[in-house]
Amino acid sequence: MEKLPDLEENSHKKFSDWHDILSESINTAEVLAKYLPVDISTIRKVTECYPMRINPYYLSLMINKGDHLRKQAVPDLKEIEDISGSDDPSCEERQSPVPNLTHRYPDRALFMVSNQCALYCRFCMRKRKVGRPFTVTDSTINAGMEWIRKNNTIHEVILSGGDPLLLEDDEIDRILGRLRSIKHVEIIRIHSRIPCTLPQRITKNLADTIRQHHPLFVNTHFNHPDEITKEAAAACAILSDAGIPLGCQTVLLKGVNDTPHVMQTLMKKLLTIRIRPYYIHHPDLVRGTSHFRTTIKEGLGIIRSLHGYVSGLCVPQYMIDLPGGGGKVPLLPEYIQSVSDEKLQIENFRGEIYNYPETIV
Ligand SMILES: *Cc1c(COP(=O)(O)O)cnc(C)c1O
Ligand code: SF4
Repeated sequence: MEKLPDLEENSHKKFSDWHDILSESINTAEVLAKYLPVDISTIRKVTECYPMRINPYYLSLMINKGDHLRKQAVPDLKEIEDISGSDDPSCEERQSPVPNLTHRYPDRALFMVSNQCALYCRFCMRKRKVGRPFTVTDSTINAGMEWIRKNNTIHEVILSGGDPLLLEDDEIDRILGRLRSIKHVEIIRIHSRIPCTLPQRITKNLADTIRQHHPLFVNTHFNHPDEITKEAAAACAILSDAGIPLGCQTVLLKGVNDTPHVMQTLMKKLLTIRIRPYYIHHPDLVRGTSHFRTTIKEGLGIIRSLHGYVSGLCVPQYMIDLPGGGGKVPLLPEYIQSVSDEKLQIENFRGEIYNYPETIV
């Protein structure tokens, strides 16, 4: 096994810039096998269907911390053996008035401005798209901008991908500037996993660029407390200090974070780096990801273990995305035991039953 690239030791020379870290990413079975005991032919087969990218930062993290991080990044034969689900269960393509833009809710649009990520997550809901050549081009970005300009019911644009923050600072500035020039766009949101997977990319210059375009929110994506490192904390501090509110969209993943203890720890730790957990997503019915799926019942149990036990500041909503383009719906554990004209019987977080008198009208 080869010695790991040492980020600490090299931070002042080789890895002084995020581009250098990214360019050392592992994307072939042969190179991965130098660091991990993997079967080269299996990895090769899977990466023919779905690309792999593991950058040195995440590589060293997952080697040091173990399986729950490895599972998110290392290709698994189950990805290509899975015949369940579909490539695009939530029908993003069908609800696309122009390529790479999905319009599902009345007042907001999801706009994919990058097809690259700092790590290709094996459970990705956009496995069909990310990391593939083409997909996002100048012409799709122009068409998206034009569509948003013409549709004045759109008050919020969510930049997604791929990862928008993998674009260069000047490209990000240009995209945000174009959106800001559209009067009806009030809120801009960026969805990015970069603070977790390549925190070195969050530079002061990036934050200074983004802050010119407020009100702007960033939702990031952490799935395990071990991903909250001092590098990730520093990245989030740079964004928060630029006045950018941070949220987190965690995906519930079997073998990664599907226990009350891990999820409680993750939610509490997110708060300490000034991230307010936003959603926990039940994994979508995407082909090639069924080995990550828990039952909804298990998901509800985990949400229940948060209510009352951790600060309300770090209790996100548990969301399920309905197949067929129905959209996201919040799921809640059942606390109401019975309802009559006079009273409701409600269970508290400890499972004790209380009566609540109904208002007599
Ligand atoms: C998730 C999603 C959004 C954003 O939904 P919020 O509930 O506002 O976070 C917008 N458009 C599409 C197509 C989405 O999938
Ligand atoms: S960072 Fe997001 S879009 Fe990119 S591979 Fe991971 S889950 Fe998919």
